[in-house]
Amino acid sequence: MAEVEKTVVLVTGGSRGIGAAVCRKLAGLGHTVLVNYANNSSAAQSVVHDIEAVGGQAVAVQGDVQHEADILKLFGEVDRLGRLVGLVNNAGVVDHAQRVDEMTVDRLTRMFSINLVGTFLCAREAVKRMSTRHGGKGGAIVNLGSAGSKLGSPGQYVDYAASKGAIDTMTVGLALEVAEEGIRVNAVRPGIIDTDIHASGGAPDRVAQLQSKLPMKRAGTADEVADAILWLMSEQSSYTTGAILDVSGGRAILP
Ligand code: NAP
Repeated sequence: MAEVEKTVVLVTGGSRGIGAAVCRKLAGLGHTVLVNYANNSSAAQSVVHDIEAVGGQAVAVQGDVQHEADILKLFGEVDRLGRLVGLVNNAGVVDHAQRVDEMTVDRLTRMFSINLVGTFLCAREAVKRMSTRHGGKGGAIVNLGSAGSKLGSPGQYVDYAASKGAIDTMTVGLALEVAEEGIRVNAVRPGIIDTDIHASGGAPDRVAQLQSKLPMKRAGTADEVADAILWLMSEQSSYTTGAILDVSGGRAILP
């Protein structure tokens, strides 16, 4: 009997928050999920454990997306596991609230290396494997944008907002570049989602402070964003490419 081909999806930053929710849901599509993380191996192992507990397959792999060598290592692991069919470019960071006139080059380099260059390099490696132009069989890429790309995040992190603005543009450009090569490229643009990212930016109470000002009077959950990503990764969205889906409970939905 012919061996069934194993299909693989890579989720960068899959150990916590939105990425972890995406990994848990993607496993249900029957793919091996490569759960990437930067530092928190126990969180990544716990995602793997949850997936295995319901009969899915997952592997945790360390790799910092600001380093090209780490990204190449990640994709080497993908190749070892099976055929890549999807990439969720989820790894992203914020930083402490600062005005642009206070920002150091180190801060800016880190912000753009992780949120933007890392996203580009992962997309590059995914296209090399999935594009029919390179002998692949197609696939899907979902990028994580942010409502910040429309708000600009003044006095807080204009650098973060700008990195996410570039993600919007890259999503459209790459979608058109590979549209006839079997790859769909889309983005979700979350609003305020209740994850650790706010604490890592020095504002652990950001969700509590902002929720009464949000249209739905509450923050979103990682699962609510993951459900939108799951749809964009699945065949249910087979005619959707270049789309940027606001998952923001109505925050920043106007252009
Ligand atoms: P989070 O809870 O802070 O989790 C971040 C994840 O990314 C973790 O798994 C972390 O790994 C990983 N990560 C961070 N830096 C990395 C690097 N250099 N290389 C590889 N992995 C790295 O974040 P989140 O809130 O789920 O956000 C996920 C994405 O959604 C980000 O792109 C973010 O900008 C976007 N987003 C979030 C919100 C929100 O309100 N939460 C709103 C708009 C957009 P470790 O566990 O190893 O640290």
